[in-house]
Amino acid sequence: MAASVRIQYLQWVAGAVAACGCAVLGGMQLTHAFAELNRADRAVAEASRFGLVLAMTDMISAERGPSNAAMDPFAASPEEGARRLAAIRATTDRRIAEVRAASEPGEAAQLASVFDVVGQRLAEARAKVDAVCARPPEERRGAAIADAIRAMFAVADEAALLRSEYGRRLLQSAPEVGAEVLLQAHASALREEAGRLGSYAVMKLTGGVTAEEAQRASRQTEDRIRYLWQLLAPYGRNYADDPDVVRALGEIESEYFATSLPLVRDVFADPTRRGSAADFTRRYVPGLAAPTRLKDGLLSLTLRRIEGFRWAVLTDTLVSAAITAGVLLTLLWLGLVFRRRLFRPLIAVREEILALAVGHLDDPVPVARSGPEIDEMFEGLAILRQELRRKLVLERARHRVTRNLKVLAETDSLTGLRNRRAVSSQAPTMIEAAEKAGQPLGAIVADIDHFKMVNDLHGHAGGDAVLQRVAGSLRSLAGSRDLIARYGGEEFLILAPGLDEVATYALAERMRQRLAMEPGEPAVTGSFGVACRPPGSGLDWEALVAQADGALYRAKRLGRNRVCADMRKVMIAPGPIAQRA
Ligand code: GH3
Ligand code: MG
Ligand code: MG
Repeated sequence: MAASVRIQYLQWVAGAVAACGCAVLGGMQLTHAFAELNRADRAVAEASRFGLVLAMTDMISAERGPSNAAMDPFAASPEEGARRLAAIRATTDRRIAEVRAASEPGEAAQLASVFDVVGQRLAEARAKVDAVCARPPEERRGAAIADAIRAMFAVADEAALLRSEYGRRLLQSAPEVGAEVLLQAHASALREEAGRLGSYAVMKLTGGVTAEEAQRASRQTEDRIRYLWQLLAPYGRNYADDPDVVRALGEIESEYFATSLPLVRDVFADPTRRGSAADFTRRYVPGLAAPTRLKDGLLSLTLRRIEGFRWAVLTDTLVSAAITAGVLLTLLWLGLVFRRRLFRPLIAVREEILALAVGHLDDPVPVARSGPEIDEMFEGLAILRQELRRKLVLERARHRVTRNLKVLAETDSLTGLRNRRAVSSQAPTMIEAAEKAGQPLGAIVADIDHFKMVNDLHGHAGGDAVLQRVAGSLRSLAGSRDLIARYGGEEFLILAPGLDEVATYALAERMRQRLAMEPGEPAVTGSFGVACRPPGSGLDWEALVAQADGALYRAKRLGRNRVCADMRKVMIAPGPIAQRA
Protein backbone atom coordinates (compact mmCIF):
# COMPACT_ATOMS: atom_id res chain seq x y z
CA MET A 1 0.00 0.00 0.00
CA ALA A 2 2.82 2.35 1.01
CA ALA A 3 4.33 1.85 -2.44
CA SER A 4 1.46 3.78 -4.02
CA VAL A 5 1.74 6.73 -1.61
CA ARG A 6 4.05 9.59 -2.49
CA ILE A 7 7.29 9.52 -0.47
CA GLN A 8 7.02 13.25 0.11
CA TYR A 9 3.61 12.72 1.68
CA LEU A 10 4.97 9.85 3.81
CA GLN A 11 7.86 12.04 4.83
CA TRP A 12 5.52 14.85 5.91
CA VAL A 13 3.29 12.43 7.81
CA ALA A 14 6.27 10.78 9.51
CA GLY A 15 7.73 14.21 10.28
CA ALA A 16 4.42 15.38 11.73
CA VAL A 17 4.09 12.22 13.86
CA ALA A 18 7.67 12.60 15.11
CA ALA A 19 7.10 16.31 15.80
CA CYS A 20 3.87 15.59 17.70
CA GLY A 21 5.57 12.83 19.70
CA CYS A 22 8.47 15.10 20.49
CA ALA A 23 6.15 17.97 21.43
CA VAL A 24 4.14 15.68 23.72
CA LEU A 25 7.28 14.21 25.34
CA GLY A 26 8.84 17.64 25.64
CA GLY A 27 5.59 19.07 27.00
CA MET A 28 5.36 16.29 29.60
CA GLN A 29 8.97 16.79 30.56
CA LEU A 30 8.49 20.54 30.77
CA THR A 31 5.30 20.22 32.82
CA HIS A 32 7.13 17.92 35.19
CA ALA A 33 10.12 20.25 35.29
CA PHE A 34 7.90 23.27 36.03
CA ALA A 35 6.17 21.38 38.82
CA GLU A 36 9.58 20.44 40.23
CA LEU A 37 10.73 24.04 39.93
CA ASN A 38 7.63 25.15 41.78
CA ARG A 39 8.31 22.57 44.46
CA ALA A 40 11.92 23.71 44.76
CA ASP A 41 10.80 27.34 45.15
CA ARG A 42 8.37 26.27 47.85
CA ALA A 43 11.09 24.23 49.51
CA VAL A 44 13.42 27.26 49.61
CA ALA A 45 10.68 29.28 51.33
CA GLU A 46 9.82 26.42 53.69
CA ALA A 47 13.46 25.89 54.59
CA SER A 48 13.97 29.53 55.50
CA ARG A 49 10.77 29.42 57.61
CA PHE A 50 11.98 26.24 59.28
CA GLY A 51 15.25 28.04 60.05
CA LEU A 52 13.31 30.87 61.68
CA VAL A 53 11.25 28.40 63.76
CA LEU A 54 14.42 26.65 64.94
CA ALA A 55 15.92 30.04 65.83
CA MET A 56 12.72 30.75 67.77
CA THR A 57 12.65 27.45 69.69
CA ASP A 58 16.36 27.78 70.46
CA MET A 59 15.70 31.28 71.75
CA ILE A 60 12.86 30.04 73.93
CA SER A 61 15.25 27.41 75.32
CA ALA A 62 17.98 30.00 75.67
CA GLU A 63 15.74 32.38 77.62
CA ARG A 64 15.75 29.89 80.52
CA GLY A 65 19.42 30.51 81.35
CA PRO A 66 19.07 34.24 82.07
CA SER A 67 15.69 33.54 83.72
CA ASN A 68 17.34 31.04 86.07
CA ALA A 69 20.19 33.46 86.73
CA ALA A 70 17.78 36.34 87.40
CA MET A 71 15.83 34.19 89.93
CA ASP A 72 19.05 33.23 91.77
CA PRO A 73 18.46 33.38 95.54
CA PHE A 74 22.21 33.89 95.92
CA ALA A 75 22.35 36.70 93.38
CA ALA A 76 25.05 39.26 94.07
CA SER A 77 23.60 41.90 91.70
CA PRO A 78 19.93 41.16 90.85
CA GLU A 79 19.67 44.31 88.65
CA GLU A 80 22.35 43.00 86.32
CA GLY A 81 20.45 39.70 85.96
CA ALA A 82 17.17 41.54 85.34
CA ARG A 83 18.77 43.64 82.60
CA ARG A 84 20.17 40.64 80.84
CA LEU A 85 16.81 38.88 81.12
CA ALA A 86 14.98 41.86 79.59
CA ALA A 87 17.41 41.90 76.69
CA ILE A 88 17.01 38.19 75.94
CA ARG A 89 13.21 38.34 76.26
CA ALA A 90 13.20 41.08 73.60
CA THR A 91 15.18 38.79 71.32
CA THR A 92 12.77 35.85 71.94
CA ASP A 93 9.78 38.09 71.16
CA ARG A 94 11.47 39.23 67.97
CA ARG A 95 12.10 35.63 66.91
CA ILE A 96 8.46 34.68 67.53
CA ALA A 97 7.29 37.74 65.56
CA GLU A 98 9.65 36.83 62.70
CA VAL A 99 8.18 33.33 62.42
CA ARG A 100 4.63 34.69 62.42
CA ALA A 101 5.56 37.31 59.84
CA ALA A 102 7.28 34.75 57.59
CA SER A 103 4.29 32.40 57.65
CA GLU A 104 1.99 32.52 54.64
CA PRO A 105 -1.43 34.04 55.39
CA GLY A 106 -3.33 30.74 55.30
CA GLU A 107 -0.65 28.95 57.28
CA ALA A 108 -0.52 31.70 59.92
CA ALA A 109 -4.28 31.41 60.38
CA GLN A 110 -4.03 27.60 60.73
CA LEU A 111 -1.29 27.86 63.33
CA ALA A 112 -2.65 30.96 65.04
CA SER A 113 -3.92 28.92 67.98
CA VAL A 114 -0.51 27.23 68.45
CA PHE A 115 1.21 30.63 68.36
CA ASP A 116 -1.38 31.92 70.82
CA VAL A 117 -0.72 29.02 73.20
CA VAL A 118 3.05 29.59 72.93
CA GLY A 119 2.52 33.30 73.65
CA GLN A 120 0.21 32.51 76.52
CA ARG A 121 2.53 29.95 78.11
CA LEU A 122 5.45 32.32 77.65
CA ALA A 123 3.56 35.14 79.35
CA GLU A 124 2.58 32.81 82.24
CA ALA A 125 6.13 31.53 82.65
CA ARG A 126 7.58 35.03 82.52
CA ALA A 127 5.02 36.17 85.09
CA LYS A 128 6.19 33.38 87.40
CA VAL A 129 9.84 34.29 86.82
CA ASP A 130 9.03 37.95 87.44
CA ALA A 131 7.14 37.03 90.61
CA VAL A 132 10.27 35.30 91.94
CA CYS A 133 12.54 38.12 90.79
CA ALA A 134 10.29 40.69 92.49
CA ARG A 135 11.33 39.28 95.86
CA PRO A 136 14.68 40.05 97.43
CA PRO A 137 17.12 37.17 96.76
CA GLU A 138 17.13 35.83 100.26
CA GLU A 139 13.31 35.48 100.21
CA ARG A 140 13.17 33.55 96.94
CA ARG A 141 11.87 30.01 97.55
CA GLY A 142 13.15 26.97 95.66
CA ALA A 143 9.63 25.70 94.98
CA ALA A 144 8.61 28.96 93.28
CA ILE A 145 11.82 28.93 91.22
CA ALA A 146 11.18 25.28 90.17
CA ASP A 147 7.60 26.18 89.27
CA ALA A 148 8.75 29.08 87.11
CA ILE A 149 11.34 26.84 85.44
CA ARG A 150 8.70 24.16 84.71
CA ALA A 151 6.49 26.88 83.23
CA MET A 152 9.39 27.74 80.91
CA PHE A 153 9.65 24.02 80.00
CA ALA A 154 5.97 24.14 79.00
CA VAL A 155 6.69 27.01 76.61
CA ALA A 156 9.45 24.96 75.01
CA ASP A 157 7.12 21.96 74.71
CA GLU A 158 4.56 24.08 72.84
CA ALA A 159 7.23 25.62 70.62
CA ALA A 160 8.44 22.08 69.80
CA LEU A 161 5.03 21.47 68.22
CA LEU A 162 5.66 24.42 65.87
CA ARG A 163 9.12 23.03 65.10
CA SER A 164 7.62 19.64 64.16
CA GLU A 165 4.90 21.26 62.06
CA TYR A 166 7.28 23.48 60.08
CA GLY A 167 9.71 20.58 59.71
CA ARG A 168 6.92 18.41 58.37
CA ARG A 169 5.98 21.06 55.83
CA LEU A 170 9.56 21.37 54.64
CA LEU A 171 9.79 17.59 54.27
CA GLN A 172 6.62 17.62 52.21
CA SER A 173 8.08 19.99 49.61
CA ALA A 174 11.67 18.69 49.84
CA PRO A 175 11.86 15.03 50.86
CA GLU A 176 15.43 15.10 49.45
CA VAL A 177 16.62 16.94 52.57
CA GLY A 178 14.71 14.70 55.01
CA ALA A 179 17.84 13.55 56.80
CA GLU A 180 19.11 17.12 57.28
CA VAL A 181 15.73 18.32 58.53
CA LEU A 182 15.51 15.51 61.09
CA LEU A 183 19.09 16.10 62.22
CA GLN A 184 18.35 19.82 62.68
CA ALA A 185 15.29 18.98 64.71
CA HIS A 186 17.41 16.63 66.78
CA ALA A 187 20.14 19.24 67.23
CA SER A 188 17.50 21.68 68.36
CA ALA A 189 16.04 19.05 70.73
CA LEU A 190 19.53 18.33 72.04
CA ARG A 191 19.94 22.01 72.82
CA GLU A 192 16.58 21.96 74.62
CA GLU A 193 17.32 18.82 76.63
CA ALA A 194 20.81 20.02 77.57
CA GLY A 195 19.24 23.29 78.71
CA ARG A 196 16.69 21.35 80.75
CA LEU A 197 19.41 19.34 82.43
CA GLY A 198 21.01 22.63 83.46
CA SER A 199 17.66 23.87 84.70
CA TYR A 200 17.24 20.71 86.82
CA ALA A 201 20.65 21.43 88.28
CA VAL A 202 19.46 24.97 89.09
CA MET A 203 16.30 23.50 90.74
CA LYS A 204 18.59 21.24 92.75
CA LEU A 205 20.97 24.06 93.69
CA THR A 206 18.10 26.34 94.76
CA GLY A 207 16.34 23.55 96.69
CA GLY A 208 13.23 23.49 94.49
CA VAL A 209 13.20 19.70 94.23
CA THR A 210 14.09 16.79 96.44
CA ALA A 211 17.34 14.99 95.84
CA GLU A 212 15.56 11.91 94.47
CA GLU A 213 13.34 13.95 92.18
CA ALA A 214 16.38 15.79 90.92
CA GLN A 215 18.28 12.55 90.42
CA ARG A 216 15.43 10.96 88.47
CA ALA A 217 14.80 13.98 86.27
CA SER A 218 18.47 14.46 85.53
CA ARG A 219 18.94 10.80 84.67
CA GLN A 220 15.97 10.81 82.31
CA THR A 221 17.14 14.00 80.65
CA GLU A 222 20.69 12.79 80.32
CA ASP A 223 19.36 9.56 78.76
CA ARG A 224 17.48 11.62 76.21
CA ILE A 225 20.59 13.69 75.56
CA ARG A 226 22.62 10.52 75.03
CA TYR A 227 19.93 9.12 72.75
CA LEU A 228 19.84 12.29 70.66
CA TRP A 229 23.63 12.35 70.50
CA GLN A 230 23.71 8.75 69.32
CA LEU A 231 21.53 9.80 66.43
CA LEU A 232 23.37 13.01 65.66
CA ALA A 233 26.98 11.85 65.93
CA PRO A 234 26.99 8.92 63.45
CA TYR A 235 24.61 10.51 60.92
CA GLY A 236 26.37 13.85 61.27
CA ARG A 237 29.57 12.18 60.08
CA ASN A 238 27.90 11.86 56.67
CA TYR A 239 28.60 15.58 56.26
CA ALA A 240 32.35 15.23 56.52
CA ASP A 241 32.72 17.65 53.62
CA ASP A 242 30.94 20.42 55.53
CA PRO A 243 33.49 22.04 57.91
CA ASP A 244 30.81 23.86 59.97
CA VAL A 245 28.97 20.62 60.74
CA VAL A 246 32.17 18.69 61.47
CA ARG A 247 33.44 21.47 63.75
CA ALA A 248 30.11 21.76 65.59
CA LEU A 249 30.03 17.98 66.20
CA GLY A 250 33.53 18.16 67.70
CA GLU A 251 32.55 21.15 69.81
CA ILE A 252 29.54 19.32 71.22
CA GLU A 253 31.95 16.64 72.38
CA SER A 254 34.48 19.05 73.83
CA GLU A 255 32.36 21.97 74.99
CA TYR A 256 29.25 20.16 76.12
CA PHE A 257 30.00 16.53 76.94
CA ALA A 258 33.53 17.18 78.20
CA THR A 259 33.00 20.57 79.86
CA SER A 260 29.37 21.41 80.69
CA LEU A 261 27.99 17.95 81.47
CA PRO A 262 30.51 17.25 84.30
CA LEU A 263 29.32 20.47 85.99
CA VAL A 264 25.80 19.01 86.21
CA ARG A 265 27.12 15.71 87.46
CA ASP A 266 29.01 17.57 90.18
CA VAL A 267 25.79 19.26 91.26
CA PHE A 268 23.89 15.96 91.48
CA ALA A 269 26.79 14.06 93.03
CA ASP A 270 26.24 15.78 96.38
CA PRO A 271 22.54 15.43 97.45
CA THR A 272 22.81 18.30 99.92
CA ARG A 273 24.62 20.71 97.72
CA ARG A 274 23.16 24.22 97.29
CA GLY A 275 24.58 27.07 95.30
CA SER A 276 24.18 30.10 93.06
CA ALA A 277 22.01 29.55 89.98
CA ALA A 278 23.67 32.49 88.23
CA ASP A 279 27.10 31.12 88.93
CA PHE A 280 26.17 27.68 87.64
CA THR A 281 24.39 29.08 84.62
CA ARG A 282 27.34 31.26 83.70
CA ARG A 283 29.61 28.23 83.65
CA TYR A 284 27.12 25.78 82.14
CA VAL A 285 25.48 27.76 79.31
CA PRO A 286 28.54 28.23 77.00
CA GLY A 287 28.50 24.46 76.40
CA LEU A 288 25.01 24.79 74.87
CA ALA A 289 26.17 26.93 71.96
CA ALA A 290 27.64 23.93 70.09
CA PRO A 291 24.28 22.16 69.37
CA THR A 292 22.95 25.50 68.11
CA ARG A 293 25.96 25.83 65.81
CA LEU A 294 25.38 22.26 64.61
CA LYS A 295 21.78 23.14 63.86
CA ASP A 296 22.88 26.33 62.05
CA GLY A 297 25.43 24.39 60.03
CA LEU A 298 22.83 21.79 59.05
CA LEU A 299 20.35 24.54 58.16
CA SER A 300 22.72 26.30 55.77
CA LEU A 301 23.60 22.89 54.30
CA THR A 302 19.90 22.19 53.78
CA LEU A 303 19.43 25.56 52.10
CA ARG A 304 22.40 24.92 49.83
CA ARG A 305 21.07 21.48 48.91
CA ILE A 306 17.64 22.84 48.08
CA GLU A 307 19.21 25.66 46.11
CA GLY A 308 21.34 23.11 44.24
CA PHE A 309 18.29 20.97 43.59
CA ARG A 310 16.46 24.06 42.34
CA TRP A 311 19.31 24.84 39.96
CA ALA A 312 19.35 21.25 38.75
CA VAL A 313 15.63 21.44 38.06
CA LEU A 314 16.02 24.81 36.35
CA THR A 315 18.81 23.38 34.21
CA ASP A 316 16.63 20.33 33.41
CA THR A 317 13.80 22.64 32.42
CA LEU A 318 15.98 24.72 30.15
CA VAL A 319 17.67 21.66 28.64
CA SER A 320 14.28 19.97 28.03
CA ALA A 321 12.92 23.12 26.41
CA ALA A 322 16.05 23.52 24.31
CA ILE A 323 16.07 19.85 23.22
CA THR A 324 12.36 19.91 22.39
CA ALA A 325 12.72 23.12 20.42
CA GLY A 326 15.89 21.79 18.80
CA VAL A 327 14.25 18.54 17.70
CA LEU A 328 11.14 20.34 16.43
CA LEU A 329 13.24 22.84 14.49
CA THR A 330 15.43 20.04 13.12
CA LEU A 331 12.34 18.15 11.91
CA LEU A 332 10.98 21.28 10.27
CA TRP A 333 14.36 22.01 8.74
CA LEU A 334 14.65 18.43 7.47
CA GLY A 335 11.18 18.68 5.93
CA LEU A 336 12.12 21.88 4.13
CA VAL A 337 15.50 20.55 3.06
CA PHE A 338 13.90 17.36 1.71
CA ARG A 339 11.37 19.44 -0.14
CA ARG A 340 13.84 21.88 -1.64
CA ARG A 341 16.83 19.61 -2.10
CA LEU A 342 15.25 16.23 -2.82
CA PHE A 343 11.64 16.33 -4.01
CA ARG A 344 11.85 19.46 -6.14
CA PRO A 345 15.03 18.24 -7.86
CA LEU A 346 13.36 14.82 -8.36
CA ILE A 347 10.49 16.54 -10.16
CA ALA A 348 13.03 18.49 -12.23
CA VAL A 349 14.82 15.21 -13.03
CA ARG A 350 11.54 13.66 -14.14
CA GLU A 351 10.83 16.65 -16.40
CA GLU A 352 14.30 16.45 -17.87
CA ILE A 353 13.88 12.73 -18.55
CA LEU A 354 10.52 13.40 -20.23
CA ALA A 355 12.14 16.18 -22.29
CA LEU A 356 14.92 13.80 -23.34
CA ALA A 357 12.32 11.15 -24.18
CA VAL A 358 10.59 13.49 -26.63
CA GLY A 359 13.91 14.64 -28.09
CA HIS A 360 14.39 18.05 -26.43
CA LEU A 361 18.14 17.95 -26.10
CA ASP A 362 18.72 21.64 -25.26
CA ASP A 363 20.48 22.39 -21.96
CA PRO A 364 17.80 22.71 -19.24
CA VAL A 365 17.51 25.67 -16.87
CA PRO A 366 20.05 24.87 -14.15
CA VAL A 367 18.53 23.69 -10.83
CA ALA A 368 19.72 25.21 -7.53
CA ARG A 369 22.42 23.16 -5.75
CA SER A 370 20.76 20.16 -4.11
CA GLY A 371 23.54 18.11 -2.56
CA PRO A 372 25.99 15.61 -4.03
CA GLU A 373 23.55 12.72 -4.63
CA ILE A 374 21.10 14.80 -6.65
CA ASP A 375 23.95 16.63 -8.38
CA GLU A 376 25.30 13.25 -9.48
CA MET A 377 21.87 12.38 -10.90
CA PHE A 378 21.86 15.62 -12.89
CA GLU A 379 25.39 14.84 -14.07
CA GLY A 380 24.12 11.44 -15.20
CA LEU A 381 21.33 13.17 -17.10
CA ALA A 382 23.82 15.55 -18.68
CA ILE A 383 25.87 12.55 -19.85
CA LEU A 384 22.70 10.92 -21.23
CA ARG A 385 21.80 14.17 -23.02
CA GLN A 386 25.30 14.39 -24.48
CA GLU A 387 25.06 10.79 -25.65
CA LEU A 388 21.63 11.38 -27.20
CA ARG A 389 22.97 14.45 -29.00
CA ARG A 390 25.83 12.40 -30.39
CA LYS A 391 23.35 9.71 -31.51
CA LEU A 392 21.15 12.37 -33.07
CA VAL A 393 24.06 13.69 -35.11
CA LEU A 394 24.86 10.14 -36.26
CA GLU A 395 21.18 9.51 -36.95
CA ARG A 396 20.96 12.63 -39.10
CA ALA A 397 24.08 11.65 -41.01
CA ARG A 398 22.70 8.17 -41.53
CA HIS A 399 19.42 9.68 -42.65
CA ARG A 400 21.22 11.90 -45.13
CA VAL A 401 23.20 8.97 -46.46
CA THR A 402 20.05 6.85 -46.78
CA ARG A 403 18.29 9.67 -48.61
CA ASN A 404 21.24 10.15 -50.92
CA LEU A 405 21.39 6.40 -51.53
CA LYS A 406 17.70 6.39 -52.28
CA VAL A 407 18.12 9.31 -54.66
CA LEU A 408 21.03 7.53 -56.25
CA ALA A 409 19.06 4.31 -56.43
CA GLU A 410 16.17 6.11 -58.06
CA THR A 411 18.24 8.24 -60.42
CA ASP A 412 19.38 7.28 -63.85
CA SER A 413 23.10 7.84 -63.89
CA LEU A 414 23.30 8.73 -67.59
CA THR A 415 20.55 11.32 -67.88
CA GLY A 416 20.06 12.39 -64.28
CA LEU A 417 16.38 11.66 -64.64
CA ARG A 418 14.43 9.36 -62.25
CA ASN A 419 14.64 5.68 -63.20
CA ARG A 420 12.07 2.93 -63.35
CA ARG A 421 12.52 2.13 -59.63
CA ALA A 422 11.65 5.74 -58.78
CA VAL A 423 8.53 5.43 -60.91
CA SER A 424 7.35 2.33 -59.12
CA SER A 425 7.96 3.96 -55.73
CA GLN A 426 6.53 7.42 -56.56
CA ALA A 427 3.71 6.69 -58.98
CA PRO A 428 1.33 5.15 -56.41
CA THR A 429 1.83 8.24 -54.18
CA MET A 430 1.06 10.54 -57.11
CA ILE A 431 -2.12 8.59 -57.90
CA GLU A 432 -3.13 8.83 -54.27
CA ALA A 433 -2.46 12.58 -54.15
CA ALA A 434 -4.38 13.20 -57.42
CA GLU A 435 -7.25 11.11 -56.13
CA LYS A 436 -7.23 13.06 -52.89
CA ALA A 437 -7.18 16.40 -54.71
CA GLY A 438 -9.83 15.21 -57.23
CA GLN A 439 -7.45 16.00 -60.07
CA PRO A 440 -6.58 14.08 -63.25
CA LEU A 441 -3.12 12.59 -63.79
CA GLY A 442 -1.65 12.72 -67.23
CA ALA A 443 0.85 10.11 -68.53
CA ILE A 444 3.19 10.39 -71.51
CA VAL A 445 5.46 7.58 -72.79
CA ALA A 446 8.08 8.87 -75.23
CA ASP A 447 10.40 6.73 -77.39
CA ILE A 448 13.23 7.96 -79.61
CA ASP A 449 12.65 6.94 -83.21
CA HIS A 450 15.15 4.62 -84.89
CA PHE A 451 17.60 4.95 -82.09
CA LYS A 452 19.31 1.74 -83.04
CA MET A 453 20.42 3.50 -86.14
CA VAL A 454 21.89 6.38 -84.09
CA ASN A 455 23.92 3.86 -82.22
CA ASP A 456 24.94 2.18 -85.36
CA LEU A 457 25.98 5.43 -87.00
CA HIS A 458 27.46 7.33 -84.06
CA GLY A 459 28.49 4.60 -81.70
CA HIS A 460 27.24 3.91 -78.26
CA ALA A 461 28.76 7.07 -76.86
CA GLY A 462 27.01 9.08 -79.51
CA GLY A 463 23.80 7.36 -78.58
CA ASP A 464 24.42 8.22 -74.93
CA ALA A 465 24.90 11.87 -75.81
CA VAL A 466 21.60 11.83 -77.68
CA LEU A 467 19.90 10.26 -74.71
CA GLN A 468 21.25 13.07 -72.50
CA ARG A 469 20.16 15.76 -74.89
CA VAL A 470 16.65 14.31 -75.24
CA ALA A 471 16.39 14.02 -71.45
CA GLY A 472 17.33 17.71 -71.08
CA SER A 473 14.72 18.75 -73.65
CA LEU A 474 11.94 16.75 -72.04
CA ARG A 475 12.88 18.06 -68.60
CA SER A 476 12.84 21.67 -69.75
CA LEU A 477 9.22 21.32 -70.79
CA ALA A 478 7.96 19.30 -67.82
CA GLY A 479 6.29 21.08 -64.93
CA SER A 480 7.85 21.30 -61.50
CA ARG A 481 5.44 18.78 -60.00
CA ASP A 482 5.85 16.35 -62.93
CA LEU A 483 7.74 13.10 -62.62
CA ILE A 484 10.02 12.57 -65.54
CA ALA A 485 11.87 9.27 -65.74
CA ARG A 486 14.00 7.22 -68.07
CA TYR A 487 11.66 4.26 -68.29
CA GLY A 488 13.63 1.99 -70.62
CA GLY A 489 16.73 2.16 -72.92
CA GLU A 490 15.55 5.12 -75.09
CA GLU A 491 12.08 5.37 -73.58
CA PHE A 492 10.87 8.09 -71.18
CA LEU A 493 7.82 8.39 -68.93
CA ILE A 494 6.27 11.67 -67.78
CA LEU A 495 3.54 11.68 -65.08
CA ALA A 496 1.92 15.12 -64.93
CA PRO A 497 -0.44 15.77 -62.00
CA GLY A 498 -3.41 18.03 -62.76
CA LEU A 499 -3.22 17.59 -66.55
CA ASP A 500 -6.34 16.25 -68.25
CA GLU A 501 -6.30 14.45 -71.67
CA VAL A 502 -6.09 17.66 -73.69
CA ALA A 503 -3.38 19.29 -71.56
CA THR A 504 -1.36 16.06 -71.50
CA TYR A 505 -1.67 15.75 -75.23
CA ALA A 506 -0.63 19.37 -75.66
CA LEU A 507 2.44 18.82 -73.48
CA ALA A 508 3.40 15.71 -75.42
CA GLU A 509 3.00 17.62 -78.61
CA ARG A 510 5.23 20.46 -77.31
CA MET A 511 7.84 17.83 -76.39
CA ARG A 512 7.63 16.14 -79.76
CA GLN A 513 8.08 19.45 -81.48
CA ARG A 514 11.00 20.41 -79.26
CA LEU A 515 12.78 17.14 -80.11
CA ALA A 516 12.07 17.54 -83.77
CA MET A 517 13.20 21.19 -83.88
CA GLU A 518 16.14 20.87 -81.61
CA PRO A 519 19.52 21.61 -83.09
CA GLY A 520 22.40 19.18 -82.57
CA GLU A 521 23.84 16.11 -84.26
CA PRO A 522 22.42 13.62 -84.90
CA ALA A 523 18.92 15.05 -85.07
CA VAL A 524 16.31 12.69 -83.64
CA THR A 525 12.55 12.58 -83.40
CA GLY A 526 10.36 10.83 -80.89
CA SER A 527 7.01 9.14 -80.79
CA PHE A 528 4.62 9.87 -77.92
CA GLY A 529 1.80 7.84 -76.35
CA VAL A 530 -0.58 9.78 -74.13
CA ALA A 531 -3.10 8.55 -71.55
CA CYS A 532 -4.98 10.23 -68.73
CA ARG A 533 -6.38 9.05 -65.44
CA PRO A 534 -9.51 10.95 -64.45
CA PRO A 535 -10.11 11.16 -60.71
CA GLY A 536 -12.29 8.35 -59.32
CA SER A 537 -11.43 6.04 -62.23
CA GLY A 538 -9.78 3.44 -60.00
CA LEU A 539 -6.97 3.06 -62.57
CA ASP A 540 -3.58 2.06 -61.08
CA TRP A 541 -0.35 3.50 -62.44
CA GLU A 542 0.71 0.37 -64.29
CA ALA A 543 -2.59 0.35 -66.21
CA LEU A 544 -2.24 4.06 -66.94
CA VAL A 545 1.31 3.58 -68.26
CA ALA A 546 0.14 0.52 -70.26
CA GLN A 547 -2.51 2.69 -71.92
CA ALA A 548 0.07 5.35 -72.77
CA ASP A 549 2.37 2.57 -74.01
CA GLY A 550 -0.42 1.28 -76.20
CA ALA A 551 -0.86 4.76 -77.69
CA LEU A 552 2.94 4.96 -78.29
CA TYR A 553 2.78 1.67 -80.13
CA ARG A 554 0.13 3.13 -82.36
CA ALA A 555 2.22 6.29 -82.92
CA LYS A 556 5.11 4.08 -84.00
CA ARG A 557 2.87 2.12 -86.27
CA LEU A 558 1.41 5.22 -87.79
CA GLY A 559 4.92 6.30 -88.85
CA ARG A 560 6.65 7.76 -85.81
CA ASN A 561 7.38 11.40 -84.80
CA ARG A 562 3.84 11.84 -83.62
CA VAL A 563 1.63 11.89 -80.58
CA CYS A 564 -1.07 9.31 -80.11
CA ALA A 565 -3.64 9.28 -77.36
CA ASP A 566 -5.04 6.10 -76.00
CA MET A 567 -8.55 7.36 -75.58
CA ARG A 568 -10.75 8.21 -78.46
CA LYS A 569 -11.85 11.30 -76.65
CA VAL A 570 -8.56 12.92 -77.68
CA MET A 571 -8.10 13.99 -81.22
CA ILE A 572 -5.03 12.50 -82.77
CA ALA A 573 -2.61 15.02 -84.17
CA PRO A 574 -3.05 15.46 -87.99
CA GLY A 575 -0.13 13.61 -89.53
CA PRO A 576 3.53 13.94 -88.82
CA ILE A 577 4.78 17.38 -87.95
CA ALA A 578 7.53 18.69 -90.19
CA GLN A 579 10.68 16.81 -89.68
CA ARG A 580 14.06 18.24 -90.11
CA ALA A 581 15.91 16.27 -92.58
P1 GH3 B 1 11.96 2.37 -83.32
O1 GH3 B 1 11.85 3.56 -84.11
O2 GH3 B 1 11.01 1.29 -83.68
O3 GH3 B 1 11.85 2.69 -81.81
O4 GH3 B 1 13.37 1.76 -83.57
P2 GH3 B 1 14.56 1.76 -82.65
O5 GH3 B 1 15.74 1.38 -83.32
O6 GH3 B 1 14.67 3.01 -81.90
O7 GH3 B 1 14.16 0.62 -81.56
P3 GH3 B 1 14.89 -0.66 -81.03
O8 GH3 B 1 14.10 -1.13 -79.84
O9 GH3 B 1 15.00 -1.64 -82.11
O10 GH3 B 1 16.29 -0.22 -80.59
C1 GH3 B 1 16.60 0.40 -79.46
C2 GH3 B 1 18.06 0.52 -79.30
O11 GH3 B 1 18.45 1.39 -78.26
C3 GH3 B 1 18.69 -0.81 -79.05
C4 GH3 B 1 19.76 -0.48 -78.04
O12 GH3 B 1 21.04 -0.82 -78.43
C5 GH3 B 1 19.74 1.01 -77.89
N1 GH3 B 1 20.01 1.37 -76.52
C6 GH3 B 1 19.33 1.00 -75.44
N2 GH3 B 1 19.89 1.55 -74.32
C7 GH3 B 1 20.96 2.32 -74.77
C8 GH3 B 1 21.91 3.13 -74.11
O13 GH3 B 1 21.92 3.29 -72.94
N3 GH3 B 1 22.87 3.74 -74.88
C9 GH3 B 1 22.90 3.60 -76.19
N4 GH3 B 1 23.85 4.23 -76.86
N5 GH3 B 1 22.05 2.80 -76.81
C10 GH3 B 1 21.05 2.20 -76.13
MG1 MG C 1 12.28 1.61 -77.80
MG1 MG D 1 13.04 3.73 -80.44
